[in-house]
Amino acid sequence: MIIASAAIALVLGLAATVAINAHSYREYNDWTRHSYLVEQQLLKTSLALRSAESALRGYLLTKDAGQLDVFFAQLPRIDKLSAGLVRMTADNPPQQARAKELRDTLQSRVKRMRNMLTQVHRGDRDGALQLLHDQISEQVERPIASQTRVMHAVEQQLLREREARRNQSAMLATWFTLACLLFGLTLVISAVILVIREQRIRLRADDELATAYTQLAQSLEESRGMADRMQRLHMLNESLQSCRSIDEALRILPPSLEDMLPDTSGMVVLINASRNLAEKAAEWGVLWLDSETVFAPDDCLALRRGQPHPAPDARVKARCAHLETGQTNHTDATWLCIPLLAQGETLGVLHIQRLGSMRPEEYDLAVTLGEQLGLMLGNLKLQETLRIQSIRDPLTGLFNRRYLEVSLSRELLRSRRHERSLALMMLDMDHFKRFNDTHGHDAGDELLLQFSALLRDAIRAEDIACRYGGEEFVLILPETDRESALKRAEEIRLAVAAMKVKHQGKLLGNLTVSIGLAMQPPTGGEPEALLHAADQALYQAKRAGRNRIEIATVPDPGSMPKDTD
Ligand code: GH3
Ligand code: MG
Ligand code: MG
Repeated sequence: MIIASAAIALVLGLAATVAINAHSYREYNDWTRHSYLVEQQLLKTSLALRSAESALRGYLLTKDAGQLDVFFAQLPRIDKLSAGLVRMTADNPPQQARAKELRDTLQSRVKRMRNMLTQVHRGDRDGALQLLHDQISEQVERPIASQTRVMHAVEQQLLREREARRNQSAMLATWFTLACLLFGLTLVISAVILVIREQRIRLRADDELATAYTQLAQSLEESRGMADRMQRLHMLNESLQSCRSIDEALRILPPSLEDMLPDTSGMVVLINASRNLAEKAAEWGVLWLDSETVFAPDDCLALRRGQPHPAPDARVKARCAHLETGQTNHTDATWLCIPLLAQGETLGVLHIQRLGSMRPEEYDLAVTLGEQLGLMLGNLKLQETLRIQSIRDPLTGLFNRRYLEVSLSRELLRSRRHERSLALMMLDMDHFKRFNDTHGHDAGDELLLQFSALLRDAIRAEDIACRYGGEEFVLILPETDRESALKRAEEIRLAVAAMKVKHQGKLLGNLTVSIGLAMQPPTGGEPEALLHAADQALYQAKRAGRNRIEIATVPDPGSMPKDTD
């Protein structure tokens, strides 16, 4: 803007200078020309006088009338020329005064020459000739010559001055034009420099804008990715919350981990109940660095320290001992162990591997995932414990009476739907009170434990073994007919009779069991009816001498015994 204003001012200044200079040059030229014209006029006037004098002298000497004509022709010219000289010197009063003086001198000279002619006409030619001679002689001529010289000298002086001023003005104009050109050139160079600088600033600003845009797009992409991962983390949480057991959770984990931690492999390692071993429970991808699948918890630095290892800023990344140090082709493989913590308890470790180092956001996500996973697994473990406590008998680990009632209803419905028979056995240790009394309560507990183990071994996976209370047990055998049930009952009875009970290194006496068996059909579909029928059969077995099996007949609702005792 400043440069543009300066350039406009420069152009205007230059134009004005050229105009002024042209004008003054023309003016000085006019004045110079004027000086020349004055000079010329002066010369013409002198010449006219000389011509008039010569013609007069010629006439006087030769009487030639032609000379007289010439003389008369010159007289008005002398007047005219001298008057012109006065007019022309109007601009210069001293010079005009001289011109007027010359004009007067010339007029008096012309007058004298006319007088000479008059003298000739009167017959005095010689006198006239003498007068003319005098006039032309030095004394008479001198005033005119001196006037002419002075005027000529003045005009020459004026001419020189005017020429000098004209030259000075031309020189000034030249210098001014040169200065303007130089200034203009400086302006152009400054403008070019400014334009280049502007261009650079604009390019830099463009670059910065592009970088800022790229960073914005990147952070937007990262935010989007993070939001997406958080959404997936939320979904994984929901999936884990809907799991009924840790095993179920471990089944859904690998695809979710693979999805949430792309380009990684790893495993979920859980610490066993006795807390002396960490064991691989789930895995995804193929590990680039081999790792033990069963190891001591102390072999993992994350488990030992209770925090992720290695930390993102750790300079020395000490290797966990469970990672084998053998040769690997993947020298750029990195790993991360995150302890799975829940309510102050360490459940295991989330071990992650990838090629190349983890980006900070990936590390953060993995740690968050580990935290969530720890809480979820802890929650599931707690739920499992509570569920087991609510459905299992704490001494024997068999299902309890409440679970029996629920599952019996379910199994009866199922067997009726599929039109299959179901067997229900009620077992009661014979003379258990006496055993207790003889060997002590602890020995009795030991016997109950061994008996429970025997029952567990004797049944199929789909059968249900429950402790009904004290030394009474119930077995539900779905899809089992009467013969199979009898056979199974007999096997159990014989196994119990053959059971060697050891307590504190001492072999205790043998025990027997009495079994009441009820079948559906024919017994009615209600759980209570079937339990009552089996109980009745058991009662029969006791009454019949114990260590035997009795099969229930269709129950008579009026003859229900109160106890097997
Ligand atoms: P029967 O052959 O008629 O069944 O005689 P019994 O002695 O087995 O039957 P009774 O009902 O008279 O005694 C049951 C005993 O079982 C009484 C109780 O001390 C014992 N008992 C119940 N629960 C436990 C337990 O959890 N541990 C131990 N050690 N004994 C128990
Ligand atoms: Mg009993
Ligand atoms: Mg008993």
